[in-house]
Amino acid sequence: MRIVLLGPPGAGKGTQGELLVKKYKIPHVSTGDILRAAIKEETELGQKAKVYVERGELVPDGLVVGIVKERLAREDAASGFLLDGFPRTPAQAEALDASLREMGMQLTAVINVDVDTEILLERLTGRRVCRDCGATYHIKFNPPTVRCVCDKCGGELYQREDDAAETVRQRLEVYRKQTEPLIAYYKEQNILYTVDGSQEIEQVFADIIEFLQ
Ligand code: ADP
Ligand code: AMP
Repeated sequence: MRIVLLGPPGAGKGTQGELLVKKYKIPHVSTGDILRAAIKEETELGQKAKVYVERGELVPDGLVVGIVKERLAREDAASGFLLDGFPRTPAQAEALDASLREMGMQLTAVINVDVDTEILLERLTGRRVCRDCGATYHIKFNPPTVRCVCDKCGGELYQREDDAAETVRQRLEVYRKQTEPLIAYYKEQNILYTVDGSQEIEQVFADIIEFLQ
């Protein structure tokens, strides 16, 4: 199973990604998570990526394509993977196609998680993430059992800096301009499935599974 999760920030890619990788036992490759870890550890990649992430802009294609290529070449991705937040530009999509071709692989499906902007704003501003394991919660729609504490590992929950209202608007605009054209790109390849992401988490997951099976 080689899956891409496409959709605007806040659509539920990370949430569905967690469920899908558990079911299919494949690695969850989230470029956002990789970049945030690099920024936290102050690696060379992190230092280069920081200003873009903070402003809600996309990190240059060259940087991101490199890390994904390296990640997909690892042994645990040989029999499948789930890409979350990548590709995000036509250039990234073409680079992904080229590297998969080189490895003799192709994508199984691209799941486009579709959600209206108003709902996205509410989801992003209420999102909380575990500092230790990266699990995602929502103060209203998916709250932890104990306030600010991760159910899975007991870690502290925090609000991502780029989930502040002004940055969220910028990220949504970047999505419309740079990422949305990928819907047509994958439709043309006949591998796109659009799911109604405004439904409850369990229903979105059930629809995706039904399609994949
Ligand atoms: P993305 O990875 O696409 O940016 P997330 O998976 O982090 O999105 O989800 C954004 C926020 O919305 C999180 O706080 C998450 O708990 C919440 N969320 C995700 N899916 C749903 C859903 N179907 N209904 C309500 N809230 C959701
Ligand atoms: P995400 O966690 O997917 O919402 O991503 C958070 C931020 O990381 C984005 O706003 C971008 O700055 C950066 N980022 C993540 N994935 C990519 C990508 N594929 N291309 C460029 N920038 C990315």
